Amino acid sequence: MNITSTPPATPTPNPHLGRDSLRPDCSNCFALCCTAFGFTRSADFAIDKPAGTPCQNLDKDFSCTIHDRLRPRGFRGCTVFDCFGAGQAVSQRLFDGISWRENPGSQHDMFTAFKVLRQLHEMLWHLAEAQVKTYDADSARQAQDLREVIESIAGGSVRAVLTCDVEQLHGQVRAALRGISDEVRAGYFAGGGEHLDADFAPGADLIGRNLRARSLCGADLRGACLIAADLRFSDLAGADLLGTDLRDARLDGADLAAALFLTQPQLNSARGSSATTLPEWLSAPPHWLAAP
Ligand code: SF4
Repeated sequence: MNITSTPPATPTPNPHLGRDSLRPDCSNCFALCCTAFGFTRSADFAIDKPAGTPCQNLDKDFSCTIHDRLRPRGFRGCTVFDCFGAGQAVSQRLFDGISWRENPGSQHDMFTAFKVLRQLHEMLWHLAEAQVKTYDADSARQAQDLREVIESIAGGSVRAVLTCDVEQLHGQVRAALRGISDEVRAGYFAGGGEHLDADFAPGADLIGRNLRARSLCGADLRGACLIAADLRFSDLAGADLLGTDLRDARLDGADLAAALFLTQPQLNSARGSSATTLPEWLSAPPHWLAAP
């Protein structure tokens, strides 16, 4: 495959389209991520915790007692997680600001709704990006239509959230993102350029690979495993990173500004620095910038 590092022009000017409400607001959440999910003791979590129970480090006011020491205390997984704004939406809108502590009978539905809404919000996040990246009016309309369907469910009742067919929505969103990815990535192959190996493919096993200073523009890396890969100073413009596993991937100096479908949790799990170039709607995680 031949690629060029010259990115196509950006089709529309507002990359933040509708995404403000898809950012976490922990101050308005009943610590649902610290309660709804279960942990297995591992490199990411220092303890076992069953789903539906509060973490031992959770305070009465839903804050974390070790918030500023999560990594050294063995809770790296907590610094990676991002709820895409589902926490505050469930806590404040779906359950009217009444916590699972005040009303223990709400726990099952509240925790289940949180897990569903997080998936819906993540789909909305990707569709917003797809909508501003495509040049094709029909594709933009399809992304907008899907957003409206999902927003209607996400903004509906607890029952609407709990009974929606998440798998079907995932399938529809995947197909829409796939089409827009193909269209956008094609723009990177128009002018010839560096040859990209055939093993840069969806789902590829690229664990620990030395990809330093490589041009990976327009590569289809969705679902690929890039754990601990060396991507320092690489150019990932137009590379599709939907679901790509970037845990411990080295991103110092990498250019991800025009990568497709990159999320904050992926960045949180990787190793970068202030020299990593990011899309303007994402930010460098605090642990990238902390003193070693
Ligand atoms: S360690 Fe803190 S942030 Fe992590 S689950 Fe427990 S209370 Fe939540």
